[in-house]
Amino acid sequence: MARYTGPVCKLCRREGVKLFLKGDRCTSGKCPFDRIDTNSRNRDAAPAAPGQHGAARKKLREYGMQLREKEKVKRFYGVLERQFHNYFDKADRMEGMTGENLLILLERRLDNTVHRMGFGKSRAESRQLTLHDHICVNGKKVNIPSYCVKVGDVISVAENCRESESVKALIEAMATHTAPKWLEVDAANASAKVIALPTREDVAFDFNEQLIVELYSK
Ligand code: SF4
Repeated sequence: MARYTGPVCKLCRREGVKLFLKGDRCTSGKCPFDRIDTNSRNRDAAPAAPGQHGAARKKLREYGMQLREKEKVKRFYGVLERQFHNYFDKADRMEGMTGENLLILLERRLDNTVHRMGFGKSRAESRQLTLHDHICVNGKKVNIPSYCVKVGDVISVAENCRESESVKALIEAMATHTAPKWLEVDAANASAKVIALPTREDVAFDFNEQLIVELYSK
């Protein structure tokens, strides 16, 4: 499955909000959002959007707001347009609120689950670890980042890669990571069990998913 491979900070600048796409860098003070000139008259301003006319950030109209919200969610979870649309169609067929269903489906992706259990500093790194056969689901290797986890699944770091120094460091970081309540993390065994499905409150970002529903309902 294709994925975005360009500069990721540019994506945050485009959305005008921190999407936490780069792991430690996002909280290190090197983030462009943390380096806004404090002498500036507009201290709360986000860095300029990328591109020649980026500094002239225009006030968005209804369609623009809906579009930006969709892009924000796609970028946060690292999903491209076609796959995102498939998620939306699936969410629409499910019982309940389509917008909430959409976020919950994205939250249940294996790469996101691996990240939320604390293995991988960013979703992109967790995705890479998944693609590189570092992850097992119920004891079997699964290298599909979009795999949808279900209640009872046990996600673990594959035994044969636990001796690598980089993987050891990531496993150690799991011990201090705060996981969401739908995951029961066993850092000593580098694993986590899905004890419930995530809910809307478990989504770690303040999206306005209703805007996406309105966009796709046109
Ligand atoms: Fe870059 Fe992370 Fe800051 Fe976004 S939040 S601009 S990815 S450092």
